[in-house]
Amino acid sequence: MPDNTGKETIFERRLMRERAARKQAEHLLEEKSRELYSSNKELLRLAQNLEGLVEERTAELKEARDQAMAASRSKSSFLANMSHEIRTPMSGVIGMAELLLGSPLSAEQRQQVRVILESGKALLTIINDILDLSKLESGKFHLVIEDFDLFDVLDNVVDVLAIPAEEKHLELGAIPSEGLPDRVRGDPVRLRQVLLNLVGNAVKFTDQGDVRVEVRVEEHEADHPLRLRFDVVDTGPGIPPKDHSLLFSKFSQLDEGRVPKHHGTGLGLAISKNLVECMGGEIGLRSQPGQGSRFWFTVALEKPEVELTRRPRIPEGIRAALFTRNRFQMESVLAHLRSLNVDVEVIGESESLSGILRGGRERGEPFHLLITDSPEPSVTAGKPQLLQGLELDGDSISRASPDWIDSRGSGETGPWGVRLTRPVTRQKLLDALLPAVPAADPGFTSTEGEQVATSRHVLLVEDVFSLQLVAKAKLERLGYTVDVVGDGREAVEAVRNGEYGLVLMDIQLPQLDGLSATREIRKLIDPAKASTPVIALTANAMKGDAEAYLATGMNGYLAKPIDNQQLEAALERWFVGPGASR
Ligand code: ADP
Repeated sequence: MPDNTGKETIFERRLMRERAARKQAEHLLEEKSRELYSSNKELLRLAQNLEGLVEERTAELKEARDQAMAASRSKSSFLANMSHEIRTPMSGVIGMAELLLGSPLSAEQRQQVRVILESGKALLTIINDILDLSKLESGKFHLVIEDFDLFDVLDNVVDVLAIPAEEKHLELGAIPSEGLPDRVRGDPVRLRQVLLNLVGNAVKFTDQGDVRVEVRVEEHEADHPLRLRFDVVDTGPGIPPKDHSLLFSKFSQLDEGRVPKHHGTGLGLAISKNLVECMGGEIGLRSQPGQGSRFWFTVALEKPEVELTRRPRIPEGIRAALFTRNRFQMESVLAHLRSLNVDVEVIGESESLSGILRGGRERGEPFHLLITDSPEPSVTAGKPQLLQGLELDGDSISRASPDWIDSRGSGETGPWGVRLTRPVTRQKLLDALLPAVPAADPGFTSTEGEQVATSRHVLLVEDVFSLQLVAKAKLERLGYTVDVVGDGREAVEAVRNGEYGLVLMDIQLPQLDGLSATREIRKLIDPAKASTPVIALTANAMKGDAEAYLATGMNGYLAKPIDNQQLEAALERWFVGPGASR
């Protein structure tokens, strides 16, 4: 059966081939399985490794973050310490230069001392700017909220910038709108800082015309009882709209030929923006080249906690006649008089003053005051008889000095009554009007019976000798008698055994620091002594500290170097009392 055999052979061969192929496939499969197994194993190992690596990196990152946070904390405390360390010697330099200016010097020496003083102040401004910005950016910034007098802040800004404005023959003044509250609650130091910045810039960049500070109550939402809007308007070079948003970023100065080269860090507006936002407001600008600038901002304020009327009040029904050809002064004085509830009649240039005064009398609405910058007693020419007429009639009218617009600073009063100097502020108007108006209410009343000191005797607690000299001289110049002690322990003893109207207390002191010394004073047995007002003197720029001072029982604080006006304001606040402060 050859055929069959042949077939079998073919079949067997195929079978063998297939078997071989299957074996090979199985072999391959086995090999691949082994490879897969070892790859899996490798993968597992890698995964474990990766987890380990991730853990390791996480730990490293955590450490880096902790280190960064520690670095930021130490940067903040470094800044606080630096500010203290720089401000203390700067206080000495500035204070001594101020004292030196008050002594007999040759013209050349006087000029040299002025340069020391101005350079010191400029350096201090830069240090303060840098500190403020780093505090604002690190979120370590706190507002210090207290009741304050809005007009004190406005007056102060105008007073501080009066001389630079006068040097450039600029008109400067606030234009408060009617219905503006006197007392509000917020952070007066920071509000003043923003205003000084904007008004300072306006004076710096304007060469001709005027700088006005308009203030009004803004429509407000329900969550805040009071929102104020301030507009600082100048007649300076103006700013192209494309630059407006750039202005509020750090280190930006845009001049490049637009305005003459000037000094500045370029931080002022960036700080102002941050501060305004902290105070719940907004800041902005309207300006065109050649049309001046209007920088505006809003702030959210509260109603005061204590309704305190320390100011003397102008009695109801006082009528004043106002004449000036200076439109800016007219507007500013008018707005201020109205804010004091004085009924004002503006006299036009063509009007006869005597006619107006007589008319008032005949209507039974006599004028109590004439406020004018006219050098003649009669506003219009040819009426010199007016003065005689008034005197002959026994008219009780009081006249503000005719040169109130032209002269400044002398504080003189003459036969014309009271002299007012430019720029007019609310305080100057009050000082001028009070002696002139009949039966003025001396004011100084408190609805809360807050303690008012009457002794003009001050205890100064300061350990640095140069600063003792500076502060003592400043206080004596303001008419106070001063005792000086150098540490906290002596301070407590001095208050126990003496009669002080106020204590000015440094914080960092040997023996017993200022806070502990204040606590000790508050524990004294004699209640009058235990409640002696204590004002902290601090070179520490970190304002969060101020709250700590107040919490310890201090009544306020003054930053070193001591600013003359702030010192005077703080003293007046605690030394008011009939006959005490005037
Ligand atoms: P600094 O005054 O220190 O330079 P600011 O941030 O206060 O810094 O101002 C930034 C820039 O904005 C100024 O350098 C100036 O170019 C411009 N600027 C600010 N205020 C005015 C203004 N009232 N009129 C014209 N330019 C102004």
